Amino acid sequence: MAKMYDAVIIGGGAAGLFCAAQLGLLGKTAVVIEKNERLGRKLRITGKGRCNVTNNCDAQTVMKNIPRNPRFMYSALSRFSPEDTMAFFEGLGVPLKTERGNRVFPVSDSAHDIADALVKCCLDCGTEFVSGEVVSLIIENGCAKGVRVNGGEYHGGAVIIAAGGRSYPKTGSDGSGYKLAKSAGHHVTAILPSLCPIVTEEHEECAELMGLSLKNSTLSLYEDDSTKPVYEELGELLFTHFGLSGPLVLSASAHLRELEKHAYRIAIDLKPALSYEQLDTRILRDFGDFPNREFANSLGKLLPSKLISVIVRRSGIPADKRVNQITKEERRRLAETLKKLTYTVSRMRTIDEAIITRGGVELSEIDPKTMESKLCKNLYLIGEVLDIDAYTGGFNLQIAWSTAYACAQAVEYTV
Ligand SMILES: Cc1cc2nc3c(=O)[nH]c(=O)nc-3n(C[C@H](O)[C@H](O)[C@H](O)COP(=O)(O)OP(=O)(O)OC[C@H]3O[C@@H](n4cnc5c(N)ncnc54)[C@H](O)[C@@H]3O)c2cc1C
Repeated sequence: MAKMYDAVIIGGGAAGLFCAAQLGLLGKTAVVIEKNERLGRKLRITGKGRCNVTNNCDAQTVMKNIPRNPRFMYSALSRFSPEDTMAFFEGLGVPLKTERGNRVFPVSDSAHDIADALVKCCLDCGTEFVSGEVVSLIIENGCAKGVRVNGGEYHGGAVIIAAGGRSYPKTGSDGSGYKLAKSAGHHVTAILPSLCPIVTEEHEECAELMGLSLKNSTLSLYEDDSTKPVYEELGELLFTHFGLSGPLVLSASAHLRELEKHAYRIAIDLKPALSYEQLDTRILRDFGDFPNREFANSLGKLLPSKLISVIVRRSGIPADKRVNQITKEERRRLAETLKKLTYTVSRMRTIDEAIITRGGVELSEIDPKTMESKLCKNLYLIGEVLDIDAYTGGFNLQIAWSTAYACAQAVEYTV
């Protein structure tokens, strides 16, 4: 007779490990089946290896950072909020700190500390870990009973799909969770990248600027002919050989929808701290220092050297014109270029480079209080496999923690 567990968890990522820890703390038995040699592989690279573990805000604010279907998270966040996340990890001996934008990180700046603390908590509670890939679910009379792993079977009172989404497949989340969910009758919405670098039509110009990182610029994203941005933020962005990347660009990408129907442009304000008037005064001052200089040689104080030829070209002012010959209208054009360096969005890079998957298992088929499937009894789905995603700031991990917690509470003692 095969061993029986209260829960069989598919995937030892953020949601699976957290769920196992919570089950263990409640005295429920669990086995986690993970196909990677190492547990929490994606978790260990989150936040550039620092792990932005949550956002120091209330549940309402988390929901405001979930662009689609935020209500689904209402119950789970009410029961396990960012405050609870912080208390939990500090309780495990991982001190945390809050940075700009209320982003919470371990004081050590090491994502391994978060992953290792979770694994240790699981082991202390008696969680079993199995290295292997779940290939199918065992379902009898509309009720999940266990899973098949190449070569063996694991049986539990509950089966929990915590297999992640489709982004960064090298970390293990290759979409196999969707196949398993489908085998239980679930529907999966269109799988798209989110929080993803952007390819621009002006990719040749971006390639010219490749490697240039702008730290204090404002990025505004405009949809179609609107003059009101759908997203605007001050921060850091990066030019790449295909277009744009960096934190501001990843966040902006979450606001792109139906690219085949909508046109998007990104405007970068290189001098957000200066009004047009102040910028003109600044330009006049720089020009005044060396009135006989050629225009192309006069921007060294204003711009990083890599940007100068691009700005000169875009301003339409002849590169060899003496600065004391530049007209007021030409200065206006220069200021306009500096405050609205505009790129046209062509597409997003592929999902392999996306931080998060947009789309997943249809939420109307899941009970938001327990994360149990409405189609298959004793089957639960948590984390990124669900059709829910958020902006950057620690919100996506909070979704993993809160859905995992709701599930752990709901799973019944069967052993
Ligand atoms: C580069 C990067 C940085 C990020 N930084 C942040 C951040 O700082 N803050 C934040 O909030 N979010 C961040 N995210 C998002 C965050 O990592 C995810 O939201 C989170 O990992 C989702 O957790 P999950 O457990 O659902 O999926 P995952 O963490 O992907 O875990 C799924 C696990 O299931 C395993 N698995 C899949 N199929 C099977 C199978 N058939 N059998 C056995 N095992 C299987 C996989 O190997 C994997 O280990 C980042 C993502 C990336 C890619």
